[in-house]
Amino acid sequence: MSAPSIVILTGAGISAESGLGTFRDEGGLWAQHRIEDVATPEGFARNPQLVVDFYNARRAQAADANPNAAHMALARLQAEHAGSVTLVTQNVDDLHEKGGSVDVIHMHGALNSALCATCEHRWPAPLAMSVGQDCPYCTGPTARPDIVWFGEIPYHMERIERALANADVFVAIGTSGNVYPAAGFVQMARHVGAETIEINLEPGENVGLFDDVRAGKASETVPNWVAEVLAG
Ligand code: NAD
Ligand code: ZN
Repeated sequence: MSAPSIVILTGAGISAESGLGTFRDEGGLWAQHRIEDVATPEGFARNPQLVVDFYNARRAQAADANPNAAHMALARLQAEHAGSVTLVTQNVDDLHEKGGSVDVIHMHGALNSALCATCEHRWPAPLAMSVGQDCPYCTGPTARPDIVWFGEIPYHMERIERALANADVFVAIGTSGNVYPAAGFVQMARHVGAETIEINLEPGENVGLFDDVRAGKASETVPNWVAEVLAG
């Protein structure tokens, strides 16, 4: 049998031990802000300064953060596994890349990217973006953080669905399984007969859909799982 095709979905939990708070963390950035204010197009239209400041703070925090053993283990899996490894993340930080991963699919966008709301041009975001910054392509004053907000369509869905249609193994790591479409990936994988594994500190909302559930901190559980896969 050829080496299995693996699709991995990561969420905020994989970056928690790198010091980036999850959405549920008490006292974290998210606890101080309402989702409707900072993570919707309507919130941005109402108060762009608040939204730009919020993502500037998150960008600064991510720039100072280091990848942990879980990010590094996934990079090792990508480098050493004989079959395909598709790494999809809901995270907007770049800790997978800092950990050595290549070709990371950022379905919810990226803090280090800016997007023009007029022409959809993308460019590297400065550490601190400002409201009404000019687009370097069309010169419109319509720069925004390149983040997929609630009510917007996640990026790269066709590619992700193609990978899921060919998956032998699907693994969800550090995600609470309550934000769609990502929370539905496990069903797509089951549909094609893939083995499904959840690796999480606490069981996600959709835990019942996984064949195998591993509880614990990502920095321990993910390297263990990767070692198992690589040992065959
Ligand atoms: P989440 O904060 O909802 O869930 C984090 C998960 O990580 C939890 O299941 C938790 O048990 C687990 N976890 C925490 N520490 C861990 C550790 N050390 N090791 C392993 N697991 C650990 O984050 P999410 O699932 O990534 O959220 C999905 C998407 O939802 C985000 O990309 C974002 O776009 C959106 N969002 C969600 C909320 C919300 O309230 N859930 C708020 C704003 C945005
Ligand atoms: Zn533009």
